[in-house]
Amino acid sequence: MKILIIGTGYVGATTAMVFAETGWQVTGLDIDAGKIERLKQGRLHFHEPGLEALIAKHVQSGRLQFTTDKEIAIKEHDVIFLCVGTPSLPDGSADLRYIRQAAEDIGRSMKGYKLVVTKSTVPVGTQEKIKKWIESAQQAAYPFEVASNPEFLREGKAVKDALNPDRIVIGTDSQRATEQLKKLYWPFVCPWIVTTPRTAELIKYASNSFLATKISYMNELARLCDELEVDVTEIAEGMGLDPRIGSSFLQAGLGYGGSCFPKDVSELVMTSRKHHVHLGILEGVMEVNRTQYAYLLDKARSRLTSFADKTVTILGLAFKPDTDDIREAPALRIIDQLLLEQANVRLYDPIAALPPHGSYRAVKVCTSAEEALRGAEAIILCTEWPEFERLDWKKAKKLLGQPNFFDGRNMMNAKRMRRIGYYYQGIGKA
Ligand code: NAD
Repeated sequence: MKILIIGTGYVGATTAMVFAETGWQVTGLDIDAGKIERLKQGRLHFHEPGLEALIAKHVQSGRLQFTTDKEIAIKEHDVIFLCVGTPSLPDGSADLRYIRQAAEDIGRSMKGYKLVVTKSTVPVGTQEKIKKWIESAQQAAYPFEVASNPEFLREGKAVKDALNPDRIVIGTDSQRATEQLKKLYWPFVCPWIVTTPRTAELIKYASNSFLATKISYMNELARLCDELEVDVTEIAEGMGLDPRIGSSFLQAGLGYGGSCFPKDVSELVMTSRKHHVHLGILEGVMEVNRTQYAYLLDKARSRLTSFADKTVTILGLAFKPDTDDIREAPALRIIDQLLLEQANVRLYDPIAALPPHGSYRAVKVCTSAEEALRGAEAIILCTEWPEFERLDWKKAKKLLGQPNFFDGRNMMNAKRMRRIGYYYQGIGKA
């Protein structure tokens, strides 16, 4: 079987690597010629630890190829994975335009049987739509099947996650598709869930929404901790030792961001509204997340009286460490608000870059944390890059205008920061 991956972003490039690593012949297809040119040279167009070396290895061995020629690529491959983006529409539901485009491309170019597998996160019922889109574009009634195979990798840990999945979920009504997918995933030893397409689609949304719920729960609790003068990180530790709860996703902070949680929670809520079911918990999860960045900004504003003409340093832009992904990053919302309130914003992130919007021209982008800290009257830590923890904060204090530290990720040791003279505020660490 020859595998075609449509869409070579975070998920597609990682999936292509996984199948090449397990011995299959793989081609990555993208509409973005710039990305494909880089990938052909074994270079990645985003930051993901360990991935570039594996891509380069398989490009060199010839097991992994990249192209922009969809017609030939679709014709020549039997199994096609859809890994295109499914961003949010303005109303919060998933935008399926890239899925539809890819499905119609498949329909137009196929000349024989295809197994089409959806790895993109798509709303319940999309598998049925994909079938219709393929059929409507077909020139003749070639046979095909569509299966759902949601992806659970985490950016920053994508290589490890994708090579060691904790479960493989397959949504299909076809025995043939199940057998083909079992063959493709032959080396993976992990639980398999073979279910209906709708169930597979919903498992993905339910999983991400549950993780987002844990985050918002802790963020809301952190606000109470501030009032009660209790440290939320100790609460999280005490809770997390209970195996029924688990310790992951209990860290209070600026809220969840990235390309998945915000859009996936929002899509699930939209689906529930369409079906007249009230998912009140998830509505609350979104509300806490929407206001969480402002919660920290309020603390900073009340310390400085006003942001106008104050120098504020933002440490970290990416929505989390080990990625350059800034989609829905809380740091962006904070920067937007600071600019609106006339602050002088300085920014340092080891990898991530601001979007090329004119509005960000006013931000002084620095090449080191030390440079960014010069003259700062407030520091707002937005991403927990390890280098921020390692910085000599005693020495750094001399660079500052005022030692005000607002830790949006509860990364620093609060007692130590206060001892060396910082006015330190975290989230739920009063
Ligand atoms: P991405 O934006 O990084 O990549 C999508 C790629 O698809 C882009 O390179 C784009 O140029 C390409 N593309 C769009 N339309 C195309 C077409 N018609 N033909 C060929 N290429 C096309 O997106 P991503 O982060 O990799 O996410 C992809 C999907 O996987 C989304 O549905 C997302 O929700 C899901 N997902 C993402 C993650 C993650 O951590 N990023 C994890 C699990 C699931």
